[in-house]
Amino acid sequence: MTYNNAINSAISVNNLGVCYRTVEALRDISLSFAPGKVTGVFGPNGAGKSTLVKAMLGLIPAHSGTVSYDGQPIQQHLEKIAYVPQRSQIDWTYPVTVWDVVMMGRVRKTGWFRRFSHVSRRAGIAALDRVEMTEFKNRPIGQLSGGQQQRVFLARSLAQQAEVFFFDEPFVGVDQKTENIIFDIFHKLADEGKIVVVVNHDLGESITNFDELILLNKELIAAGQRQQVLQDENLQRAYGGKVMFFSEENNEH
Ligand code: ADP
Ligand code: MG
Repeated sequence: MTYNNAINSAISVNNLGVCYRTVEALRDISLSFAPGKVTGVFGPNGAGKSTLVKAMLGLIPAHSGTVSYDGQPIQQHLEKIAYVPQRSQIDWTYPVTVWDVVMMGRVRKTGWFRRFSHVSRRAGIAALDRVEMTEFKNRPIGQLSGGQQQRVFLARSLAQQAEVFFFDEPFVGVDQKTENIIFDIFHKLADEGKIVVVVNHDLGESITNFDELILLNKELIAAGQRQQVLQDENLQRAYGGKVMFFSEENNEH
């Protein structure tokens, strides 16, 4: 047997199915996420994008299928995985500061009720600096704008020094400057060989920032390189009716 590092360190989803009581949310999903790529998960509202991420991480039960990372069940690697949920799932009134949120990324490495080491504090400081939020360190998270909050959660995932990053709709309610900062960091993480998975629904110009796309609507519709996935037929199947999306061919200058 040959040892292929690229394949072994990918995430592999096999025949994943999820139901909420009687509602089938995902059916027989098989796909993989490659290191070194920024992968976008697209599909209309209710397509099961958030469900896919949560089921992959074991946050909700799947009725069928397996998910592996590095050739083993992903559950054995959760400390290497950073997850930033959708905005609506975070309690923004919870009284924590920016620094508290960032240092939550270090808890798995430190343990609850233990003092953070110098190494952990340095990781937190570096992460805040990277998202340009150092000056807000002591602010309550609830007082920041949507874009600033998203950057703080990105900093938390950076402080965790994860190998795999899942972000669910990170661009909702953020300004263009923040979107650029975030995409820039996503690409640097990918260049370092990380797996970066970003749930998004906006088929606008920002779609060109993704190396690979996954198109979903309860079932897997298409997965692979951006241009291949963004075929009319696939978009019709995912979104139905007439869809407008940003086409690179139509925007050459
Ligand atoms: P997306 O993130 O693509 O908008 P979701 O994964 O949130 O889609 O939802 C997929 C489907 O599952 C939708 O029909 C939604 O109504 C349903 N759903 C999501 N969460 C729950 C839940 N906790 N209980 C029941 N149904 C749910
Ligand atoms: Mg969602």
